Amino acid sequence: MQKKHKGKLPPWLKRPLPAGGGFGRTASTLDQLQLQTICVQANCPNRGECWSRGTTTVLILGKICTRNCKFCSVAAGKPGPPDPTEADRLAEMTARMGINYLVITSVNRDDLPDGGAAHFRDCVNTVRRRCPGTRFEILTPDFMASEERALATLAEALPFVFAHNVETVPSLYSVARQGHDYRGSLALLKKAKEVLGPIQTKSSVMLGLGESDDEVIQTLRDLRSVQCDRLTIGQYLKPSPQSLDVVEYIQPDKFHWWQEKAQDLGFSWVFAAPFARSSYFAEQENMSHRQAV
Ligand code: SF4
Repeated sequence: MQKKHKGKLPPWLKRPLPAGGGFGRTASTLDQLQLQTICVQANCPNRGECWSRGTTTVLILGKICTRNCKFCSVAAGKPGPPDPTEADRLAEMTARMGINYLVITSVNRDDLPDGGAAHFRDCVNTVRRRCPGTRFEILTPDFMASEERALATLAEALPFVFAHNVETVPSLYSVARQGHDYRGSLALLKKAKEVLGPIQTKSSVMLGLGESDDEVIQTLRDLRSVQCDRLTIGQYLKPSPQSLDVVEYIQPDKFHWWQEKAQDLGFSWVFAAPFARSSYFAEQENMSHRQAV
């Protein structure tokens, strides 16, 4: 049975409430264009900061996921068909907000024959036509049943960064990530590099679910063995009452240590910090010089 951390939220994990006009502008643009974000659906603690500085991560293909990860607050169930107007609304958002680095993610769509890859491609290419200078990071599901087809489709959109999160160490998959295959996720990152050519790949690991340091180090080595370039390491925070409990709050100093460890292992872009999330400061060119906070 998973252990539970009994203490209160430590002071370094308390964040100020959102403030300023930037937050309101982002919120109203998303509302007007009826776009979903993972910032809201995952109850991300960085929303105040990210939205205030005019950045967000759009959640395409609906807000109902065909899987049910216990660390995630996105609703599980039977999603509707992809919305053909979504790509245009996304392009409008990008233009209105002046976004030059756009992160797009989606729920799992095991109900679609390509796992939703064509919709990713269409979103990227539609935004690119409207806002030609935009760079794209796509954070995808594992396309478990349709990996080859999905990657061939995504090759028609060629993002700057292809991200797929392993999320945690393999021993915790049965608790946190049922229905996912750790080795399959590594294989997807490897194949993405082969099929998509000159792109960067990226993954993300959450700490505080009960993993050991040795397991995390092995996971980082596994990611490097498939030439994964970029990495975020952050603190797991329970996003909803139904989600998994936090087992441990990792001290900020330990994230400094993970930052250095990951850089030593060869990742070219690393962000290890309590609030590091896959898309947090994704647009920054060089995270290796950013101090983990
Ligand atoms: S870190 Fe990512 S998911 Fe969280 S608020 Fe920022 S853009 Fe949204």
